[in-house]
Amino acid sequence: MRQHIDTIPVWDAFKTDCECPLCELRQTNEENYVVSFTGGSVMEPDVRVEVNTKGFCARHFKMMMVGDKRLGVALMAHTYLKQTMARLGESRMAVQNVPARGGLFSRKAPAAGVDLSPITDSCILCDRLNATMDRYVYTTVYLWKKDGSFRSTLASSKGFCLKHYGELLKAGPEQLNGQELKQYTDMLNDVEMKNLARLEGEIEWFTLKFDHKNADKPWGNSRDALPRTVLKLRGKE
Ligand SMILES: [Zn+2]
Ligand SMILES: [Zn+2]
Repeated sequence: MRQHIDTIPVWDAFKTDCECPLCELRQTNEENYVVSFTGGSVMEPDVRVEVNTKGFCARHFKMMMVGDKRLGVALMAHTYLKQTMARLGESRMAVQNVPARGGLFSRKAPAAGVDLSPITDSCILCDRLNATMDRYVYTTVYLWKKDGSFRSTLASSKGFCLKHYGELLKAGPEQLNGQELKQYTDMLNDVEMKNLARLEGEIEWFTLKFDHKNADKPWGNSRDALPRTVLKLRGKE
């Protein structure tokens, strides 16, 4: 087994009435990480070093700034800023030390521009969350393989957002092969297509409700069809 398998959160998410159980898991874990990074508990030294190096993306800084933990966030932002300035200084030195290219008519390929993406695209919280979600995708395939009742639960679920649907399809061959892999893939495809068709009907009825002729007809399941359709297409914000 590749890693510790924690099946309970996956089971709980699949029992939730929602358009994507993996989005539910992602949201819960993201909120927990935000609390843990701003919770004021003493951070392990190696985590602190990682925070100072990677910092947080705009989304996660924003989530952490909400509420009454602004001093803690400001202290982290200050240290991260200082460390980032030092790293920018280093990359500047590195560029200055590149040997000059050939003469005026040299046909050598131009040197690559400075790439700041390792500095601008890092987020310790995204890293943690992505690793956690990889584990839950793995666990979903694992449960499908080992537990018949999980299979039925998945089969009668409302499917997944397209991103997580893709991740589940991609993760199949890691643990399944042959006929079993085909069954798994077929089940995912069936569940997803069936639920996309359901949602297509629901969002269509939502649009038709704007027609005054339909004003008095019942909403059915369409009242919140727009946010659910966006979630299905692009995941939970
Ligand atoms: Zn999702
Ligand atoms: Zn992030």
